[in-house]
Amino acid sequence: MLEVNNIEVVYHPYILVLKGISIQVPEKSVVAVLGPNGAGKTTLLKAVSGLIKLDRGRVTKGYISYMGERIENSDPEDVSRRGIVYVVEGRRVFKELTVEENIEAVAYAWRGKNPDPDLVYKYFPKLRARRNTRVGYLSGGEQQMLAIGLALLARPRLLLLDEPSLGLAPKIVSEVYDSIRRLHEEEGMTILLAEQNARKALEIADHGYIIENGKIVLEGPAEKLREDKDVKEFYLGMR
Ligand code: ATP
Repeated sequence: MLEVNNIEVVYHPYILVLKGISIQVPEKSVVAVLGPNGAGKTTLLKAVSGLIKLDRGRVTKGYISYMGERIENSDPEDVSRRGIVYVVEGRRVFKELTVEENIEAVAYAWRGKNPDPDLVYKYFPKLRARRNTRVGYLSGGEQQMLAIGLALLARPRLLLLDEPSLGLAPKIVSEVYDSIRRLHEEEGMTILLAEQNARKALEIADHGYIIENGKIVLEGPAEKLREDKDVKEFYLGMR
């Protein structure tokens, strides 16, 4: 479905951040991109979604192909129209509005896509009890759930998730990941996930890539990576 082929990404004026990255995301799979802070995970997702443009970044080598068409250096609006929807790091939601108002506003923005507001509550049932609460009063976990829920209104074919576990307590991370797993299993959604929380990401992923300093240092099926000595030591905190 998505093929990233040997891309280099440069931020203005000449900061080389991705140094030849290749990944494959087959339809209906969950693929995890793992690695430490600053490795280039967000840049990779932004390159796919077209958002690097807004940061004055460019794909200067290689290509990105989605459903057989080239999309590198496309405009973000063009990419989202194709069904690639990016949930940015840090929960972008309207904090002054209630949960219900957030859903209405975003459903209106995507009205051309025939959004289904019930999907939000189907996959994040906790939000139903909070529907009339202003989002600024929600917990971090509930805000993350809403951020992902709002993305569903765009009817994604490929969902890009940037650090969904960031800043959340372990129990809440598990709740968020249970919903992501259900989206994959019940909606057949294809998911590309960037995470520092390798343990959680490898629980649901089919395949994983580890990026360090703009390069892929290791890749493989998730169950293999979970058993890899270096992954255990450096990413899963086991010796
Ligand atoms: P994080 O977990 O912090 O999001 P990451 O793996 O997602 O880390 P990126 O955010 O992609 O990493 O950053 C990769 C590198 O690119 C970092 O060294 C960062 O400083 C640099 N970088 C990111 N955005 C820009 C920009 N707009 N201009 C210049 N350099 C940037």
